[in-house]
Amino acid sequence: MKHKEGGKSISGWAYIIIGIGVSVYSHIVRTANPEHGAMTLFFYLGIIFAAVGAGKILLGRKNKEATIAERRVEDDYTRKLQQQQRLWREHVQREERTPAQHSIIGCPKCNARNYSTANYCYQCGTQLR
Ligand SMILES: [Zn+2]
Repeated sequence: MKHKEGGKSISGWAYIIIGIGVSVYSHIVRTANPEHGAMTLFFYLGIIFAAVGAGKILLGRKNKEATIAERRVEDDYTRKLQQQQRLWREHVQREERTPAQHSIIGCPKCNARNYSTANYCYQCGTQLR
C-alpha cells in the first residue's frame, strides 16, 4: 500500500519535471527562432503537463488521508468487536461458575428439582414463588 502511494507521487513529480523541461526547451527554441510557431503550442503543453503532475500529487495526498481515516474506522470497529467478545467471554464464564445457584431449585413439598424460573412445581403443582 505504502509503495503504491509513493509511486503515485513520484509519477506526479515526473510529470512536473517533464512539463517544465518541455516548456523551458520550447521557450528557448522559440526565442532563438521566432519563426517556430509550433513551439508556442509545446510551451503550453508543457505547462499543462506540469499542472497534471501537480494534480496527481494533490490527489495522491488526498487518497492517503482517506486511507488513514478508513484505517481509523477499521481500528475502532476491531476494538468494539474485541470488547464485545471479551464481555461475552466474561458472561459465559460467570454462567459456568454459578450454574446451580440460579437454574435449579428444590420443591419445598415434594423436593422435585425445578428450574428457578418456574412459578409452580412441575410434579405436585406447589407454588414456588
Ligand atoms: Zn413439588
